[in-house]
Amino acid sequence: MNSRRDFLQKITGGLVLLNIPPTSSAHPEQIIETPYEGPILRVAIMGLGSYGTRVAEAMQKCKMAKLTGIISGSPSKIKDWQSKYKVAEGNCYNYENFDRIKDNPEIDAVYVITPNALHHDQVIRVAKAGKHVICEKPMAINSQQAKEMIDACNQANVKLLVGYRMHFEAKTLEIVRMRREGEMGKVMFFQGLCGFKIGDPKQWRLNKALAGGGSMMDIGIYAINGARYMVGEEPVWVTAQETKTNFEIFKEGVDETIQFQMGFPSGAVASCLSSYNIDNLDRFFITAEKGFGELQPAAGYGPMEGRTNKGKLNNPHQTHQTTQMNEMAGIIFNGNQPVIPVDGYEALKDLKIIEAIYLAVKTGKKVNL
Ligand code: NAD
Repeated sequence: MNSRRDFLQKITGGLVLLNIPPTSSAHPEQIIETPYEGPILRVAIMGLGSYGTRVAEAMQKCKMAKLTGIISGSPSKIKDWQSKYKVAEGNCYNYENFDRIKDNPEIDAVYVITPNALHHDQVIRVAKAGKHVICEKPMAINSQQAKEMIDACNQANVKLLVGYRMHFEAKTLEIVRMRREGEMGKVMFFQGLCGFKIGDPKQWRLNKALAGGGSMMDIGIYAINGARYMVGEEPVWVTAQETKTNFEIFKEGVDETIQFQMGFPSGAVASCLSSYNIDNLDRFFITAEKGFGELQPAAGYGPMEGRTNKGKLNNPHQTHQTTQMNEMAGIIFNGNQPVIPVDGYEALKDLKIIEAIYLAVKTGKKVNL
């Protein structure tokens, strides 16, 4: 592993403005004009698809993270990205040879942005190459895989972070702050609605072998994760019901729409919807004895809109992936603790709940966690 000194790359030109407080990741919306001369997280993106492109674009504005490498199976994409993002020839890999990244001192971390079922093997290979890993959600397609990924990263002494960009989003964090500081009182209910109409029936998201499931793996996970960080507890039971209207597109093991309910130790309950067949579903609502919070959109790319019992939320919008990558650099280099965790254990919790939801659908019974 590189030492921290090796990571230290001074930005040329002197003064750089850092958009987040150096000592805390609690309020990424604050603009603190502090000269930033600290280490830059040098990231290789694996999977140059639509989300990989979005992350690469967002990283152009990062102060603490920089795109320095790419991993792709497509030589033409490598060529395009090389010229667009000035990626050095020696920092380009394919899926066969990327283990060689081990010997590359210009890459600190690999961001895995490939279809869900590939994450497990790819993350483990990156960990074995001694690089930190950022992996997209869902981190894996089941909890067993997630445990193996966590173990591999622990053994290699590298960080494993998951692309939970909403965990750094300012309006989301304001509602979480109100709940945590007791301004809302006892939480009673959460509603999470997450869905969109899926397009191309041939895409990997509708292939169980690559996606690990259907809407729940892809978009429903936001409602699960949102319920956990909004309520601030872990669910102890789930119930769930599936609706399938199109058996051609949504084959066996690929869920179209699932409604699910979760119960929390305090007695709070959540009612959620995950769908690949309903548009305009992107809403969180939390209500408590002394207040409420709502976000709509709640998990899209924003700008988010929201209000609480105190009025409209006015926290400024920042590109989620830019904030996320700056914050993740702080976690990797400085051991910063995010307000809402983004590590492998956080992802494992979501996957265990997804498994319980699928079991509840199959059995028609309440499943205890
Ligand atoms: P995509 O299809 O646009 O891109 C996937 C990339 O993986 C492509 O470049 C493709 O060539 C490559 N790939 C490598 N091996 C492949 C294989 N065997 N089959 C198919 N493609 C293969 O998908 P995407 O939307 O970029 O999603 C990638 C990951 O990012 C998924 O895990 C998804 O859940 C996640 N994602 C996260 C967010 C977010 O907001 N956090 C948003 C979108 C996607």
